Amino acid sequence: MNTIVALATPLGRSGIAVVRISGSDSLAIAQQLVHDTSFTPVPRTAHLRKLHDQTSEVIDQAILTYFQAPHSFTGEDVVEVSCHGSPVLLRDIIDACLRLGARMAEAGEFSLRALANGRMDLTEAEAIRDLIDAQTSAAARQAIRQMQGEFSHQLRPLKDKLLGVIVILESALEFVEDDLPEMQAGSIGAQLESIAEQIARMAATFKAGYLIREGLRVAIVGRPNVGKSSLFNALLGSERAIVTDIAGTTRDQLHERLTIENIPISLVDTAGLRDTTDTVEIIGVARSRRTMADADLVVAMFDAAEDATDEDVKILKSIDTVEHIIAINKIDKVEPEAVRSFREELKLHASARGAFVEMSATTGRGLDELRRSVIKPFSSTHSDSNGFLVSDARHHDLLLRASEAIRNSIELLQDRASEEIILVGLHDALRYLGEITGETTTEDMLTRIFSTFCIGK
Ligand code: GDP
Repeated sequence: MNTIVALATPLGRSGIAVVRISGSDSLAIAQQLVHDTSFTPVPRTAHLRKLHDQTSEVIDQAILTYFQAPHSFTGEDVVEVSCHGSPVLLRDIIDACLRLGARMAEAGEFSLRALANGRMDLTEAEAIRDLIDAQTSAAARQAIRQMQGEFSHQLRPLKDKLLGVIVILESALEFVEDDLPEMQAGSIGAQLESIAEQIARMAATFKAGYLIREGLRVAIVGRPNVGKSSLFNALLGSERAIVTDIAGTTRDQLHERLTIENIPISLVDTAGLRDTTDTVEIIGVARSRRTMADADLVVAMFDAAEDATDEDVKILKSIDTVEHIIAINKIDKVEPEAVRSFREELKLHASARGAFVEMSATTGRGLDELRRSVIKPFSSTHSDSNGFLVSDARHHDLLLRASEAIRNSIELLQDRASEEIILVGLHDALRYLGEITGETTTEDMLTRIFSTFCIGK
């Protein structure tokens, strides 16, 4: 039962759908499907054939492509059946394959087989998942680079260098009676330092990589009627949020996605942050506080046409610990001088970190500056780095652990600890790097990773 089958395209009506079969019985199953036991397709060539059910009735006309092991995605014999995208027909074809001895593929099982057969490493398999899940073209391009092996390619020389140091220390352990000579210890320390540094530098690209992949969560907060919904709409260019003059109309939260310079932004317009007794609103306010805590960036909005209230001061204090921008709205309603003094008043209560943007959601003034300010704290690493970005939390964690383990070993080396003890951290580091590419990843971990894939991948 080692031959698996799954629909490789989404379920639904479509012009074409692809059923993928992988395993040693693939060709035999395909021969039964086309009712021709002598069907010997030329590998990697399209063959137009009629598909039959068990009563010999023709159920569809399809293109079959045979990929002979090991030259296939999984490294096994693979047959891809491109048929018409009818859900009923697809079920019939898959049922036929199951009857003929295949079993349903599990989530990510095609990719897992590709990994097991050495067709790709773990980072490449994960990149396929990321490419399919990509939310923006920038995220897709990152995934493609990883899919082509760029990450493993960058890790390889580091692993080799680390292994080189391990070999020196191990042979010292076996052949030298005394401790490492001072000079050699110094040179080993320097080599390890440079490896740890390079690994840490790769890990540092995660902030930008993660951003490109997951986007930035931006919450707009402020007391009712300052213009949060209007800003939300202005940024989205649509009338998504309900804008009214009655305070407290935005009771629920609105989520929308947009992109600013290729960075995906998930925007949340929260219920006003004010003290209230209205039950529905209380829930909304509680939720805004949570949203604020979860956000990567908070845009706190204030109304230039009114005096700053106690609530405004409370809001300024509550954003102290999070990354934030202070937006002074409705500047079209007042004189520039009034805006300036309002700003000075807010400054008295604000932390020194938050940037001020003066704007009008109605006229659109200051909106571009606001957009730039939103991505500014996050775009520096992004625009500086033409290179590869680490975008997966699993990879980031392992890189950090590896550099930390090496740094520990460097300290032990400086303290003239025995080679045996120094080697423990270096072996750990090598194992962590191996876990990124899948060489030293445990079965359990692989199962967990591949369960995040969908069926047919
Ligand atoms: P929210 O309760 O904070 O979401 O506020 P809304 O976006 O619903 O806006 C409240 C009122 O202020 C509406 O009547 C808006 O038209 C008005 N408003 C919002 N922004 C501006 C602005 O920049 N200038 C002016 N003049 N009015 C604005």
